[in-house]
Amino acid sequence: MKDQVAIVTGASRGIGQAIAEELARRGCRVACVASRAANAQSTVERIQSQGGQAQAYGADVSQVSQIEEAFSTIEADLGPPSILINNAGITRDGLLMRMKDDDWDAVITTNLKSAYLTTKAVLKPMMKARYGRIVNVSSVIGLHGGAGQANYAASKAGLIGLTMSIAKELGSRGITCNAIAPGFIQTDMTEDLTEEFKQYVQKTAPAGRLGTPADIAPLVGFLASPEAAYITGQTITVDGGLML
Ligand code: NAP
Repeated sequence: MKDQVAIVTGASRGIGQAIAEELARRGCRVACVASRAANAQSTVERIQSQGGQAQAYGADVSQVSQIEEAFSTIEADLGPPSILINNAGITRDGLLMRMKDDDWDAVITTNLKSAYLTTKAVLKPMMKARYGRIVNVSSVIGLHGGAGQANYAASKAGLIGLTMSIAKELGSRGITCNAIAPGFIQTDMTEDLTEEFKQYVQKTAPAGRLGTPADIAPLVGFLASPEAAYITGQTITVDGGLML
């Protein structure tokens, strides 16, 4: 994957940071995108200290103008992207009865519309090269639902439909699109889970523990590689067996 240009959204911390590091280890030049470039700088420094190539970019992925501007700067700086990892995501949990429209809109826009926008922004260079790898970070909640997470579940289920449609539309152009569905992974996003819930996961998952970003990144690295050419439209769960 030497010198392939990879764009990772939500690369400032957590799962996105681990994915950016994995792609850099595989030889990619990685564009680390967060809502502000400064947020992704620590990931860039980690990659550079390991001998990899990366640059930080700022774009609020819910804003089409910011995506278009950042993606054209990335192409000018690093070259045409052949890998896109849609990882940026937020939660605004609450029971449906009490959910505010703003919380619905923010989650659907940041988690789902963003992937539609970023994918459109990379299609030209990928179609021209007749090669591309797109990975969308969904969730087990998108497959199974979650009480208090109607907005999040809908956004993550939407990503799965988007993934299958992109796979069907672009397969003949050498572009694959897959989704991954992590279970409960220790990051800032899951910091507020109760001890009780964490213990439930530990007891229920055959793996006997919550996941870490390092459990997720290698699969994304593989799906983004040339070797994964015959895998497309799939959603692969990485949850230590929790949802079995
Ligand atoms: P995290 O630690 O909270 O990181 C979220 C990332 O998304 C940050 O880099 C953040 O960047 C970025 N982001 C949020 N809103 C953004 C916006 N509007 N524009 C640009 N970037 C934005 O979360 P995580 O646990 O690593 O989650 C990463 C992905 O995995 C998410 O899509 C999440 O839904 C999914 N996931 C997580 C779990 C889990 O258990 N942790 C399970 C299943 C799926 P800033 O620095 O700019 O805030």
